[in-house]
Amino acid sequence: MEQTVEQKLKALYELQTIHTQIDKIRQVRGELPMEVSDLEDEVAGLETRIQKIKGELDELEDSIVTRKNMIKEALAATKKYETQLNDVKNNREYDAISKEIEIQGLEVQVSEKKIKEHGFEIANRTDGYQKALADLAELKKNLELKKAELDTITSETEKEEAVYLKKAEEAEKHTDERLLIAYNRLRNNAKNGLAVVTIQRDSCSGCFNQIPPQRQLDIRQRKKIIVCEHCGRILVDEGFALEENPVAE
Ligand SMILES: [Zn+2]
Repeated sequence: MEQTVEQKLKALYELQTIHTQIDKIRQVRGELPMEVSDLEDEVAGLETRIQKIKGELDELEDSIVTRKNMIKEALAATKKYETQLNDVKNNREYDAISKEIEIQGLEVQVSEKKIKEHGFEIANRTDGYQKALADLAELKKNLELKKAELDTITSETEKEEAVYLKKAEEAEKHTDERLLIAYNRLRNNAKNGLAVVTIQRDSCSGCFNQIPPQRQLDIRQRKKIIVCEHCGRILVDEGFALEENPVAE
């Protein structure tokens, strides 16, 4: 049974509507992995920062240990010099040893000052460190949620897509063979995947160029296959969008 031009156009429009739905589903699914990957980058960045703070804290702790050892050594040396003071033979020797004791005393003071400074520094950085750890835990929790969400949406949209693919397959059976070839070629070449478009505000809704009034009338007559003179897309009556399509039943 030969289809009328109107039936052919309607079938083609129906196929386009289904394909547009599939395009939308794929677009939604395509954006989600980016969100997850952004979060993963954030986690990695924070982990690097935490590692760095941890390294600085360790260095400060090490430096405190070193200073404590220096104090121990200085105190031991002081004790040794003090014993030597008991058997000095002259004033010159006494002065020399006293000078050494003084130097060791200064060593101890400097090291104690450094230990205090490092202690403050550790206290300061520990706050930032704890905060970064808490942020990281929060971020990881968000990442897990987003991943779970992605899995759910992926499987949901895959199911939805399968339904539309089945519908598209069905719709193709009702589409005129020669028109289908033209349709596929147009759809592959169009960035927005639109091969069949309606008139919108007196213009082609594929390329937005104006359609002369007489041409608009011809399109609405549904008696001829009419393509946009600017982009080559197949133009159909916008009334199709409001009609129940018998092809879909
Ligand atoms: Zn156009």
